Amino acid sequence: MPHILTAAALPVSDLLRRADTWRVRLAERPAPPVAPKAALIALLFYEPSTRTRAAFEQACVLLGYHPLVITAEASSIAKGESLQDTVRTLNAQGVRAIVIRHPQAGAPIHAAQVSDAPILNAGDGAHEHPTQALLDLYTLWRHYGCPDPDTRWLGGRKVAIIGDIRHSRVARSNLILLTRAGAEVWLCAPPTLLPDTPLPDAHTTTNAEQAIQNADVVMALRLQTERMQQGLLPSLDAYRRDYQIDPERLKLAKPECVVMHPGPIQRGVEITDAVADGAASLILTQVRHGVYVRLAVLEYALGEA
Ligand code: ASP
Repeated sequence: MPHILTAAALPVSDLLRRADTWRVRLAERPAPPVAPKAALIALLFYEPSTRTRAAFEQACVLLGYHPLVITAEASSIAKGESLQDTVRTLNAQGVRAIVIRHPQAGAPIHAAQVSDAPILNAGDGAHEHPTQALLDLYTLWRHYGCPDPDTRWLGGRKVAIIGDIRHSRVARSNLILLTRAGAEVWLCAPPTLLPDTPLPDAHTTTNAEQAIQNADVVMALRLQTERMQQGLLPSLDAYRRDYQIDPERLKLAKPECVVMHPGPIQRGVEITDAVADGAASLILTQVRHGVYVRLAVLEYALGEA
């Protein structure tokens, strides 16, 4: 069964269609009944999470599995057990899949080396967040009327990702899927929050106006203070002044531009209330779509039809 470690290995077209089937199915009232499978899916969350964890938990339940949530504080990790030994233990107990959120880049890859059950990367350090990128792509795919996903359906579209690119796994995974679908991706941050080596296939700028100019999509990112060394920013006020997505800046984008954010939002820092709650915002749509996409990805990883 496939591990889901990087956005690059996702069968994107299949997963977009599967997610959409779930959207339609869950719109039925009452929701279709689920036969319980009396089997566990482990959710190892070694970093805080709201949206991703809730969506994976819901997806487990909707597929008939029991989600076994393990956090770092409440696990033998706190007693010094290695991640690989935790994964071996869960395999020995017959869990069907293991979803991992971990502060270290590459931790899910390490886990996959010792796991027969599929490992799903739910965010590893500043490396990748494949299912977030897929739900963002699904949100755009729906927004643009579900074009043939096997084409470069984002061709001619400009996507500006603005914020803490250096520490963002969301930016890295999104870049893979967005460029593959044909989008022109701009990455924008203050010089100290750009990666040391420029990411491939993207335009990079420190000028938010240049990034937003004529954009079809603006994606704001949170300052990832948990991964930030001290002193990377002169001041929050300077950051707000130069990079905050506010109605004035957004006027530079195309009139039909949409605004995205993976959450959690820091209102008044990277985005204003008026934009986050405004007509162009797809933020809560992204959250809802996160459930359909985790259902699709779990089904695929479990080899279910
Ligand atoms: N929720 C996303 C992540 O886990 C984005 C963020 O935390 O800012 O990477």
